[in-house]
Amino acid sequence: KRNVLIIGAGGVAQVTAHKCAQHAPALGDIHIASRTKAKCDEIIASIHEKGSLKGGGALSAHALDAMDTPAVSALIRETGAQIVINVGSPFVNMSVLAACIETGAAYMDTAIHEDPEKICETPPWYGNYEWQRRDACARAGVTAILGIGFDPGVVNAYAKLAIADHVPDPVSIDIVDINAGSHGRWFATNFDPEINFREFTGTVYSWQDGAWQTNKMFEVGKVWDLPVVGEQKAYMTGHDEVHSLATHYPNADVRFWMGFGDHYINVFTVLKNLGLLSEQPVKTAEGLEVVPLKVVKAVLPDPASLAPDYEGKTCIGTQVRNAAGAEVFIYNVADHREAFAEVGSQGISYTAGVPPVAAALLIADGTWDTGTMVNVEELDPKPFLRLLDGMGLPTRLRDERGDRAWDE
Ligand code: NDP
Repeated sequence: KRNVLIIGAGGVAQVTAHKCAQHAPALGDIHIASRTKAKCDEIIASIHEKGSLKGGGALSAHALDAMDTPAVSALIRETGAQIVINVGSPFVNMSVLAACIETGAAYMDTAIHEDPEKICETPPWYGNYEWQRRDACARAGVTAILGIGFDPGVVNAYAKLAIADHVPDPVSIDIVDINAGSHGRWFATNFDPEINFREFTGTVYSWQDGAWQTNKMFEVGKVWDLPVVGEQKAYMTGHDEVHSLATHYPNADVRFWMGFGDHYINVFTVLKNLGLLSEQPVKTAEGLEVVPLKVVKAVLPDPASLAPDYEGKTCIGTQVRNAAGAEVFIYNVADHREAFAEVGSQGISYTAGVPPVAAALLIADGTWDTGTMVNVEELDPKPFLRLLDGMGLPTRLRDERGDRAWDE
């Protein structure tokens, strides 16, 4: 399969587009489509500036409302794209997937579908939308790889590798996501504040003792001692991969932990308790109607503006344990400055934007061209991790034998 259509032109799309350009000889033409075409043009300009484009493939920008399935189908046909990488907002998954099923193009995304009207989706996350189209994908022979960013995505491949090769019959799978970097601003979110805060305002779901358990955000914290970034406090958070991993490994406890500093928690708590994270409009004394969350977003730094000053590292990985006492932590450490130097983005967009390109290469050469809908833990992780080793996201492994490359 050849020719890639990237949907969205945000932080993650910028990385995905650069990496596709670096692999253009294997992927063919690269098309970037977003509501605002100017953002796609800017990405193309930055690809030329960094000299990322290899080979003679075409790079094109398109204006597209990805909620409009016929328009997405028309663009897939017009561009001849056989691989669609959806890194737009989480609201467009189902309309883009429908267009892929209609045209036969392979589909990928990096987050579960969300209904813009809902504050927060509740489990079973994949069951609410994407998995309802599994039969349709199988009937049409459409390859759909769900959640192929870093987390979800690479961490699912880490879980699969850990269970297949190191820790059979797991009793726990813990995903740990630490950003030990600093952007130097008083307060900012790494992604669109609306999406970012939504993730933390709802109930925290985890899979423990064979059932969904609920907690409040910042209720369950734990200090993790991790490679490179050292001791870091992380809090249990709901996340897409908890659902798919719990479905595929129902006997294991599956939890997701995200690192937060006290400062972030303080600011978040004040904003939330004052009602400033609300999506419900309020009227000022002057009769002006405003949505508090939109105002907060307007005064916060644009997440894209953080990249030039971002420094430090991220450490994201999967810890798997079993009843026999075996334990492994498989992880990657990424560097914000290195990401910016290579593709002009901060490290978090980098970790999310590179994996779908590795997957695109595996679809293009047939290795992962399943003709069905899958989550990442259903695929062979090894070719994927081997590719990522050479694409800026090397995998390491820590167990009782020490810390080493995953395949040593
Ligand atoms: P941004 O908010 O920076 O970008 C989203 C892009 O989507 C924008 O360019 C926007 O374009 C575009 N978009 C929104 N609605 C439409 C529409 N109807 N039609 C066409 N384009 C649209 O997000 P990020 O780049 O930070 O994140 C992208 C995705 O990646 C999200 O789903 C996020 O949840 C996911 N993610 C996954 C991670 C992982 O590791 N798995 C980590 C980080 C993010 P415009 O402004 O032109 O409207």
